[in-house]
Amino acid sequence: MKYNLPKLPYKYDALEPYIDEQTMQIHHTKHHQGYVDKLNKAIEGTELEDWEIEEILKNIEKVEDKIRQAVINNGGGHANHSLFWQILSPEKTEPEGKLLEAINKKFDSLENFKIKFSEAATTRFGSGWAWLVLNEKKELQIISTPNQDSPLSQNKTPILGLDVWEHAYYLRYQNRRPEYIEAFWKIINWKKVSEFYEQATSD
Ligand code: MN
Repeated sequence: MKYNLPKLPYKYDALEPYIDEQTMQIHHTKHHQGYVDKLNKAIEGTELEDWEIEEILKNIEKVEDKIRQAVINNGGGHANHSLFWQILSPEKTEPEGKLLEAINKKFDSLENFKIKFSEAATTRFGSGWAWLVLNEKKELQIISTPNQDSPLSQNKTPILGLDVWEHAYYLRYQNRRPEYIEAFWKIINWKKVSEFYEQATSD
């Protein structure tokens, strides 16, 4: 199978002023496309061509040594960005239902969850991601990963992720990562995060 760049569910300028049009365009058509192209090249002619990207990342130790790091970087890059685009939206939503209950139970309040998640995103040194995942016990957990490492390779299912690579914010925010993180809370598609939560808990 050849992996393809997924279409964005909104226009490049839809997340203005929080994420600017040029950043979205470059991020999608250059960075994400680059991961897709390099992933396809790495797995060409191997049995991985028949696998879903999530299955590959969950079973990363089975990938042959000589292409494993390329798959971690570019397969991770493809899966991470594919999730990221979906959990953003120009439409204002709030967490509700079972997801909100679980957040309150685990983190005491939505406010406290946001503080803890923001800390994880702020303190991730260098390039990487902050995540809300379901862990092995199907409990919510906040983690961060370096580079394009996927939570799937740690047996965790991501339901919300924030890209804190400089390419995700530098044009608008320069070195002010905390301002970008603050803006992120305004553009989350909580309906989609709830969907991912329900899928992950019912598996
Ligand atoms: Mn990125």
